[in-house]
Amino acid sequence: MKILAHGLTDKGLSRTNNEDSFYSDKDLGLFIVADGMGGHSAGEVASRMAVEALSGYIRKSCAGGEPLIGRSDSGRSDASNRLVSGIRLANQVVCEAAKNNPSWKGMGTTIVAALADGNRVSIAHAGDSRAYLVRSGTISQLTDDHSVVAEQVRQGLLSKEEAEVSEYRNLLTRALGSDEALEIDVTEFDIMDGDRLLLCSDGLSTMVADDEVLMIIASDDLPESACTRLVDEANNNGGRDNITVVAAFFTAKV
Ligand code: CA
Repeated sequence: MKILAHGLTDKGLSRTNNEDSFYSDKDLGLFIVADGMGGHSAGEVASRMAVEALSGYIRKSCAGGEPLIGRSDSGRSDASNRLVSGIRLANQVVCEAAKNNPSWKGMGTTIVAALADGNRVSIAHAGDSRAYLVRSGTISQLTDDHSVVAEQVRQGLLSKEEAEVSEYRNLLTRALGSDEALEIDVTEFDIMDGDRLLLCSDGLSTMVADDEVLMIIASDDLPESACTRLVDEANNNGGRDNITVVAAFFTAKV
């Protein structure tokens, strides 16, 4: 499967700095979005560290010989196990840095990552950065937000509308940097010709409705212009947070 991919990040209209980081490498088949948190620019440090640790690990593991980190799951593909290993490493790196540097104390980051291997794609995440799949004119969210309000919505304690305006909507239940024993969600599926994958930070998903995201992704043949239009739309709707998007379009055509 051939991949066209592009990533774009934007500070948005109200934040003074950009704490998001991303990575996009179609040859490696690896795509990452991370959304950092912490004072004194520590959020920027955390998201960048996590992206560098994960991408570095996957590059080395694709070259061969890189051992898996932690327990692997025989029910999952090799790519999924490598992706989880890389996120475990990224978590260790951010935890260590936060512990050893007083000005980085309490820093953390979300992560969502996709690794394409042949006709299969693995998605792993922790936090509220999301992966979406656009297929045959429909959009589906592939990740569950690890946030307090999203857990409450899943338990039926809160409506989606209440969650959107809750003062607790930024509170995460999982992120890299706080606990060495981080639980990571992973899912995998077969890619079909024409599939379009989007990874994004909450600066997109809280500002642009899913049907608008679908409209933009489905109507654009180039990931570059789709990313620009998504960021513009988030800013048109207020741009209250940093906005990061990575789009990967899959095609069987050569
Ligand atoms: Ca954010």
